[in-house]
Amino acid sequence: MKFETLAIKSLENNLTNTNAVSVPIYLSTTFIRNEDGSYNNDFLYTRSNNPNRQILENSLALLEGGKICYTFSSGMAAISAIFQSFSTGDHILLPDDVYYNVYMLTTEVFERWGLEFTIVDMSDKNEVLSAIKDNTKLIWVETPSNPQLKITDIEQISEIAKKNDILLAVDNTWSTPVLLKPLDLGADIVMHSTTKYFGGHSDVLGGCVILKENNETAQKISHIQSLSGGVPSPFDCWLISRGIQTLHLRVTAQTKTAKKLAKFLEKHPQIKKVNYPGLKSHTQFDIAKKQMKNGYGAMLSVLIKGNAETAKKITNKLKVFTTATSLGGVESLVEHRKSVEGINSNTPENLLRISVGLENVDDLIEDWKQALSN
Ligand SMILES: *Cc1c(COP(=O)(O)O)cnc(C)c1O
Repeated sequence: MKFETLAIKSLENNLTNTNAVSVPIYLSTTFIRNEDGSYNNDFLYTRSNNPNRQILENSLALLEGGKICYTFSSGMAAISAIFQSFSTGDHILLPDDVYYNVYMLTTEVFERWGLEFTIVDMSDKNEVLSAIKDNTKLIWVETPSNPQLKITDIEQISEIAKKNDILLAVDNTWSTPVLLKPLDLGADIVMHSTTKYFGGHSDVLGGCVILKENNETAQKISHIQSLSGGVPSPFDCWLISRGIQTLHLRVTAQTKTAKKLAKFLEKHPQIKKVNYPGLKSHTQFDIAKKQMKNGYGAMLSVLIKGNAETAKKITNKLKVFTTATSLGGVESLVEHRKSVEGINSNTPENLLRISVGLENVDDLIEDWKQALSN
């Protein structure tokens, strides 16, 4: 089955005998034990499993081409579970513009517990190679990266990881499996903030981990999920499942609009640079073209001519774009990223991050035209 069909069929209601077409929300935290002590479908207690969560996890695993999926109450909870599956003294490689909260989580929490991290430029093969140590257990990749839209060649990093017996995890939040399938390119683990494109409507928080094999790492993550309890509520699972039904449609439309907007902004005299992997001017356009399908995503960032003040003023002049953090919803958002990340961030002060929504492209371009005029 093709992606769009799989997205619909994988979320069909197969757990009830009421014949309801839409899946009911199973709020029950506990499930009746049979006389012989067994449970139907292994449903026991909602921290361990729940029908809405199971349907969502099956769907996510299928869409990413993985064997198994675990969902969490947020993207950060999913990332925490992956890091928690490692042991004191293990070493992890992170990209230099990794999602800022991941950087904070490593320095403020996991380093205290004895996990070691090295930050590298993931687009530089030699830098990655020379950062590998005997205790390196995981390479973490984000492509395109946040907020500079750097591209990492997943096949290349996967080759390095395999040769050195290291796991490769890809945060695929920005691309979604509509555009990029990391497991097919050699990654072992895919992680998502399902808050973004899967949910798609800025009204639900969630995260997931999808693995290529149901191996020891998968079992560890499953155990951490159930023990530490950072699980999504049945209603959140239901909302994310509903989002998945239109994921392909939304992402392809938003991607098309983003490319047009990127092309417009690239020619504008008030814009110094546009970071968008679908532009020929992007230094890693060839890698993006090789590994992405159906387009280059609905996220971009621009460097404004001027300073932080000039950039922030533009966000205030935009009327169709809403000034807010996050991404992947139906509404277009803009944000001065350095203000969000704080003083230690190495994001340029004149950078604005843009999440393109489902509005008409002409309205979005007109909005930038008026906001950039004096
Ligand atoms: C938002 C985001 C996260 C964190 O997910 P939450 O659902 O907000 O916890 C992680 N990685 C990327 C790339 C994100 O955009």
